[in-house]
Amino acid sequence: MPEPETTEAGPASVGATIELEGLTKRYPGSDRPAVDNVSMEIGAGETVVLVGPSGCGKSTTLKMINRLIEPTGGRIRIGGEDVTDMDPVKLRRTIGYAIQASGLFPHMTVAQNVALVPKMLRWPSARVRDRVEEMLDLVGLDPGEFRDRYPRRLSGGQQQRVGVARALAADPPVLLMDEPFGAVDPITRDHLQDELIRLQRELHKTIVFVTHDFDEAIKIGDRIAVLREQS
Ligand code: ADP
Repeated sequence: MPEPETTEAGPASVGATIELEGLTKRYPGSDRPAVDNVSMEIGAGETVVLVGPSGCGKSTTLKMINRLIEPTGGRIRIGGEDVTDMDPVKLRRTIGYAIQASGLFPHMTVAQNVALVPKMLRWPSARVRDRVEEMLDLVGLDPGEFRDRYPRRLSGGQQQRVGVARALAADPPVLLMDEPFGAVDPITRDHLQDELIRLQRELHKTIVFVTHDFDEAIKIGDRIAVLREQS
């Protein structure tokens, strides 16, 4: 077993429970809810995959957890704390988020992208610098080679690695991943899935992962929630 990672703040934070209770989203002008009364308990350190066809509400469910989308009904608790009415900006600093096509800022270098949330949290600059190196190592990118590159000079797979490094940089207990490997070729996707499984063995975050790919869901998930198209 590797030693648990430590930072100045103490041991790395492992996952927190996530409880969804009657979570519902109705978009204005739509007669049916996009997400209808979803209740789910996700254990600390567990990887749960939401899988199902396009349009069944996976992404909406995920984005309600970090309140990129405001729920119309229901409650969300993280680590036992009700975060449904918490300031969404504060909330999002405690939740890692990785999306398809990496979502990196093109005008920022790899290091600047990874440093984003730690800087918002006003970590001292030496600590931010160390953390960037540590995160790039963690996702298998040599910091000397990649830290000063811009995203356009990276392959799709490398961009996704940086996206994961950025999501993990502030050491959040919860990581939300929305089709993070959807835009890369099948071989790279397979590698990235293996890497995520390896990382999760080390880090024990609570991960909610969205995909439409059942094979990916089975490979990655400790548990799988199958969402269906609404009839
Ligand atoms: P999935 O992630 O499973 O593909 P989504 O959560 O993106 O599904 O979408 C669920 C449903 O909500 C779909 O019917 C979609 O058209 C609708 N929807 C998603 N976003 C919006 C929006 N901003 N406004 C109105 N309807 C939306």
